[in-house]
Amino acid sequence: MVRSEFAGDQVIQRISQAAVHAWRTDSLFKLHFHETGRLSLANSPINVPEILQLYQELSTSPHRDQVRWLDNAEEIKTFAPYLTGAMTGWKGVFNPEGGWVHARNAMKTLGDECVKMGVTFVRGTAIKLIYHASDLKVIGIECADGTKWFADKIVLACGAWIDTLIDMQGQLVAKTWTLAHVQIRDEDERRKLKGTPVVFDVEKGFFFEPDHDTGMVKVCNEYPGFTNYQHILVNGKEKWVSVPVHSDSIPARSSREIHDLLRSMKPEWANLPLHNARMCWCTDTADSHYLITPHPDYASTLILASGASGHGFKMLPIIGKYVADLVEGKKLEPLFQETWRWRPEMNVGKRLSDDSRPGIGGDLNDAEQVGWKDETQSATTYHSATTYHSATEH
Ligand SMILES: Cc1cc2nc3c(=O)[nH]c(=O)nc-3n(C[C@H](O)[C@H](O)[C@H](O)COP(=O)(O)OP(=O)(O)OC[C@H]3O[C@@H](n4cnc5c(N)ncnc54)[C@H](O)[C@@H]3O)c2cc1C
Repeated sequence: MVRSEFAGDQVIQRISQAAVHAWRTDSLFKLHFHETGRLSLANSPINVPEILQLYQELSTSPHRDQVRWLDNAEEIKTFAPYLTGAMTGWKGVFNPEGGWVHARNAMKTLGDECVKMGVTFVRGTAIKLIYHASDLKVIGIECADGTKWFADKIVLACGAWIDTLIDMQGQLVAKTWTLAHVQIRDEDERRKLKGTPVVFDVEKGFFFEPDHDTGMVKVCNEYPGFTNYQHILVNGKEKWVSVPVHSDSIPARSSREIHDLLRSMKPEWANLPLHNARMCWCTDTADSHYLITPHPDYASTLILASGASGHGFKMLPIIGKYVADLVEGKKLEPLFQETWRWRPEMNVGKRLSDDSRPGIGGDLNDAEQVGWKDETQSATTYHSATTYHSATEH
């Protein structure tokens, strides 16, 4: 999903507005952007104020005339007639700006363009950084197959995996969100759904129109994410770190929540089989801002670009510019430099203790609460029907 509104945060708002503009206008990206608008929904006293705040924010935006407060299910359905659940007590905001992007196709286009411009991609899993004998510089990486790569500048942009390569001093935590798809086979129904707004319920999750080629609707349940704490060696030191695990299965709790979301909003889809279930690993900072900065100990060679905090994809057309500036030795403008700095004083521990409230977040190792086991035939695990590719193989 691509959106431009972010509850008053100046940094995210500025870059997300630039990103929306790029998705609309950049010839490389605009083909993949579907500006359907977005319905933000809520139905509990805790969450309705969140969307009310969003509405207030949007009421000063340049397109405020098209923004709508939706006070009940009937009004919501004028923007999304395909929502057939009773949705009693639901409130909503319609924002015509934003929509969804076909992520895989956008990534492919970008990759092809990079190749055209002379980039060479190599396949491999980095398992450690190579340090100069003086220890003041990172000069390369070593891959799982033993290959070593050396460079003058190294950018670690490995998302949730970064903590397995370098000690991030508690600034990041890897968490998985879960998703699955239902397939709409009827061509007529697919046609009717074309162009309908993204539906984002702050409590239950989100989905949007079917993939035009396959009829697959991606459905994600909303929750604070599961960790996977393991005792591992990072730079030769033992640490407890949340480590991404590749899986084509999702916890039983997630599949229940996905079905529950559909039952509330689109009951006709609630009993369809779930396909292509995935765990999707992100990494959160304590303040949800990115961490894009030279590493303070190896500033001349090592640049970190991580901490996307669940809102990184939409920045695809614009975020690389900032990383490229750092590679070229330029300073970011002070606001961005300050916001995306190395900041170990902001430990994610506080955020985790919020997320571990009973029934909210959790750790994958807590099979009883989460309902997932790291094995292929767990009775409580929902398995996808399709082949699994590890993230580093894409
Ligand atoms: C279910 C779900 C839905 C989401 N929806 C949205 C959305 O609607 N809009 C939005 O803006 N964001 C969304 N996000 C968040 C978004 O996907 C992330 O913020 C974004 O992908 C982070 O980008 P990244 O480049 O930092 O990391 P990643 O996208 O994780 O990329 C890291 C890359 O590094 C590779 N890598 C990792 N370790 C190694 C290693 N050791 N060696 C070699 N390669 C390695 C990985 O394979 C991967 O390709 C969603 C996330 C989830 C989980």
